Amino acid sequence: MAVASGILTMMQRSSWIRAMFEIGIQLKKQYGAENVYDFSLGNPDVDPPESFLRILAEEASVARKGVHGYMPNAGYPDVRSVIADYLTDQHGIAFTERYVLMTCGAGGALNVALKTLLNPGDEVLASVPCFMEYGFYTSNHGGTLKLVPSREDFDLDVDAFEAAISPKTAAVIVNSPNNPSGRVYPESTIAALAVMLERKSAEIGRAIYLISDEPYRRIVYDGVTVPGVFSHYRNTIVATSYSKDLSLPGERIGWLATNPKADDVENLVDGQILCNRILGFVNAPALMQRVVARLQGESVDVGIYLRRRDLLCRNLSEIGYRFTVPQGAFYLFPRAPGGDDVEFVRKLQNERVLAVPGTGFGLPGYFRIAFCVSEEVITRSIDGFRTAFEAV
Ligand code: PLP
Repeated sequence: MAVASGILTMMQRSSWIRAMFEIGIQLKKQYGAENVYDFSLGNPDVDPPESFLRILAEEASVARKGVHGYMPNAGYPDVRSVIADYLTDQHGIAFTERYVLMTCGAGGALNVALKTLLNPGDEVLASVPCFMEYGFYTSNHGGTLKLVPSREDFDLDVDAFEAAISPKTAAVIVNSPNNPSGRVYPESTIAALAVMLERKSAEIGRAIYLISDEPYRRIVYDGVTVPGVFSHYRNTIVATSYSKDLSLPGERIGWLATNPKADDVENLVDGQILCNRILGFVNAPALMQRVVARLQGESVDVGIYLRRRDLLCRNLSEIGYRFTVPQGAFYLFPRAPGGDDVEFVRKLQNERVLAVPGTGFGLPGYFRIAFCVSEEVITRSIDGFRTAFEAV
């Protein structure tokens, strides 16, 4: 067998999205792409901000010697400095470029953070529902992901986290706005989590690092803001990217920032820089670093996602679906009518509507709708959502 047994197991475990992808191809062949309503992928379809193409063209035409060469593994110091200024401004903590590492997307940032922190057998906690790549990222570096239940409204359950902590706990990952629930954790929850982590770190005699995965930070609705984590907890690392807020997932550009007040921070940062290199990333894409440095503060037109959210919520709620209205990101996570998410997603498929069972996010009984599709597609899909609902 050419493939390692651990990877074979992972291939089976990651089959949900792959299965949806294959079913989608089949259905599109059979019925025509315009008659298949594909809500399965979180692949942003909203255009990047207008200034992106102009800045990209300007940066691409720079002919300075060495512009395509290697650079410090952490990324261009001037780019990191721009991000450090943004972080200082946002969080009231004095960041410098030393604490910012440019990465290949948020996925790259999370892998660097975990590789730097984990010893074999260490545990990482995350609250379900969550982005299930966390399990793979953790096991990439010898750790195990432990899933923790969330509250009924998908807020973090701090007591459940506390109960799950053991002497092996190295880190907790939180993701707000959350994929797939769209939940933004309130400041009071972050504060309570921080107090608990401080106490448990002292109890188990090791720092438990809080990794905040924030690629959806700028995609929020109804005036909601995403509370910063740095000011609440010293041992915080933020991983993020421009994949969602600038719609650049294919460009693989993001960053990792570590609280300058974290325990053992100088070693931690040196470790992250080494890990960025030895994971084979070496450094984040040069051109994109220079481009995003000039796009700080910009984001896609969130109004487009807001209109889709409202259209979907209004129609699905009229049919009788039950859900918490997402406060951010571009996902809706309703309860599966009848309770069996896998079975219900099959019923949707019969109507050529593609969604992902909650099982794929560690929470059976729900399903995820990614509204990275036009309002027209949403409108045309509603009959299918109704027929599937009535078929239960
Ligand atoms: N974290 C979450 C919660 C995500 O949903 C995603 C992508 O969908 C990522 C991280 C990875 O983002 P990137 O494409 O920037 O690596």
